[in-house]
Amino acid sequence: MINQPPISQEALIAENIAHVRTTIAEAARRAGRSPEEITLVAVSKTKPLEFIKIAYNLGMRDFGENRIQEALEKQAAFCPADLRWHMIGHVQTNKANKAAASFAYIHSIDSFHAAEALQRAVEKKSQATGESLRQAVFLQVNISGEASKEGMSAADAPGIVRQILSLPQLEVCGLMTVAPLVEDAEQVRPVFRALRELRDELRQQFPAVNWEHLSMGMTDDYPVAIEEGATIVRVGRAIFGERIQVKQPLAC
Ligand SMILES: *Cc1c(COP(=O)(O)O)cnc(C)c1O
Repeated sequence: MINQPPISQEALIAENIAHVRTTIAEAARRAGRSPEEITLVAVSKTKPLEFIKIAYNLGMRDFGENRIQEALEKQAAFCPADLRWHMIGHVQTNKANKAAASFAYIHSIDSFHAAEALQRAVEKKSQATGESLRQAVFLQVNISGEASKEGMSAADAPGIVRQILSLPQLEVCGLMTVAPLVEDAEQVRPVFRALRELRDELRQQFPAVNWEHLSMGMTDDYPVAIEEGATIVRVGRAIFGERIQVKQPLAC
């Protein structure tokens, strides 16, 4: 028996990215869309910097993180000018200062309160740096209404948009959602469709806003999200492999 050499991490990630890109192209084609309309964000949360460097060297330019501290550490250690960081996790108001202007996009604005905190933080950073900074944000909508999910309700979205328009340093550029976990991705098609329809309504109501983006679709459901209009898919496991669950120590 000849032992096969182990597959390198790089070869594995390369194969995964190629597979995801092919799947994106196929889904786009099914929907009569161009694959170039869709940005693939590689979700690198919990993964080592080494994986990010490998993916970057393979051509990936968009990376998603869900914890501010972890993201800032990675940004400090690896900072090519053309790499775009996406904040995809909840931003607590007490972390707004750290989040402001540290990400190309913040996908997870889920209330006016969160938006205001971010506006203040961007203002502060603008004053400190002497630059006129603006932060691109998505509004996170909890379409499915699951209690465990973050995001504003679809019904609240128009009112919150109206308020956010008064915040000069935030630039709304679309909507984001996280679909429920299901066995069959077809089951969440209505969630993605509803986000697109909400976007279309908001576009009518607020024509001055750039409603270009729909950030929706993850490892288990991104082809369906693309068929329903996603312009940004956030894919972690299909690129970097399963995340190891860190068990919380049991309390005595
Ligand atoms: C972790 C995460 C993803 C990626 O999930 P995968 O199932 O690994 O593709 C996408 N979006 C958000 C908001 C996440 O927290």
